[in-house]
Amino acid sequence: MTTTVRFAPSPTGRIHIGNARTAILNWLFARKSDGRFILRFDDTDLERSTKAFADGITADLDWLGLTPDEVFRQSERFALYDAAAEKLKQDGRLYACYETAEELDYKRKRQLARHQPPIYDRTGLNLSDDERAKLVADGRTPHWRFKLDQRDIHWNDLVRGDVHIDTSSLSDPVLIREDGSYLYTLPSVVDDIDMGMTHIIRGEDHTTNAAVQVEIFEALGAEAPAFAHHSLLVGSDGKGLSKRLGSLSIAAMREDGLEAMAVVSHGALIGTSEAIEPHTRMDTLLEAFDLSKLSRAPGRFDMTELENLNARIVHQLSYDDVRERLARIGADGGEAFWQAVHGNLARLDEAAEWHRIIYGDMTGEIADDDRDFISQAATLLPDDPWDDSTWKTWTDAVKQASGRKGKNLFMPLRLALTGRSHGPELAALLPLIGRDRVLARL
Ligand code: GLU
Repeated sequence: MTTTVRFAPSPTGRIHIGNARTAILNWLFARKSDGRFILRFDDTDLERSTKAFADGITADLDWLGLTPDEVFRQSERFALYDAAAEKLKQDGRLYACYETAEELDYKRKRQLARHQPPIYDRTGLNLSDDERAKLVADGRTPHWRFKLDQRDIHWNDLVRGDVHIDTSSLSDPVLIREDGSYLYTLPSVVDDIDMGMTHIIRGEDHTTNAAVQVEIFEALGAEAPAFAHHSLLVGSDGKGLSKRLGSLSIAAMREDGLEAMAVVSHGALIGTSEAIEPHTRMDTLLEAFDLSKLSRAPGRFDMTELENLNARIVHQLSYDDVRERLARIGADGGEAFWQAVHGNLARLDEAAEWHRIIYGDMTGEIADDDRDFISQAATLLPDDPWDDSTWKTWTDAVKQASGRKGKNLFMPLRLALTGRSHGPELAALLPLIGRDRVLARL
């Protein structure tokens, strides 16, 4: 059987690093086993799901390099869910309930006051025909609950190990709302069966759902796939990420100019026993990836760590890797330019600034105290042609003539030539700036 996995976002917003991590793990798992990676939009909530969000998620995955082998939309598959619901009704596994939200709330509070677990009391299941007819005559429309078997469900979770959940500790879950709309639970199982899912890799917030879903798989005559419930990400303060989703969205990271491979390396290795190393290519990441290395403890997401990883990736990129992107931001200064500046970049788009500094029409900074020194240095500029050794030749001569050394010698020159107190090696910058521009700036 071909390994088949899916990433199943609800297009009710854009994805953040936590969701992306689920997508990354699924994609790597599929690639590692020559399997299929399916993108499934869980868009049965027709009011909150939008095409714009679905398109945005598709663009986010594309940017990350996580291209799906197939794409499905649940909103186009209602006939399948209706058929499954019908079968469950016929088999007595899906039953109508008529309580209002207030009535259910009241029941729950009463159970809690009596120190009982707030589990649904199956009133709907035990209605007589007359009672049901009366409720319908009163104008009530039902919601539908799945009748759990109330037994021990267990599976060997690929991340969490042996998991046991006694479904008698759960309320029979509502699968269909009063307005006829589906909650996520049933359509997900119907699709997982129909699409031949072999593994479900998702966040541990779905672990309890898995027990319910195992029962639904079986009620529909199928066997549940293998499960891997990974821990969720927390911020460096140990709290869940949900409050800060804006800045942690994949779209924001892309707009901020982070490297897709930094996000993918981070998402794949966070919360594993592997060190978070920068990978510039998917194939080396695939070698490092193994689902069994995922820890059960929450993964800590730290923006600073991602930024460091990003810088380390930019430092590893070759000119060929980046040439097109440099051209797009007007910063293709050729191989020597890239070699000179890339070690100083935290983000690739900072190359545009160095491009402007080197080739543009700019005036550096010259302090009043340094004016004479700078004029003297200008008279000592070596003749063309310039190369990597020109800086040393020149500054040796300036040192001799001025008597300055160390920071006193180099900093005024750096400021005059670049307007910055930090930056790439001047030995590499000097021949790129070239004699005419250097002379003008001095
Ligand atoms: N749409 C669900 C979610 O985003 C999918 C969960 C699953 O993978 O089964 O949480």
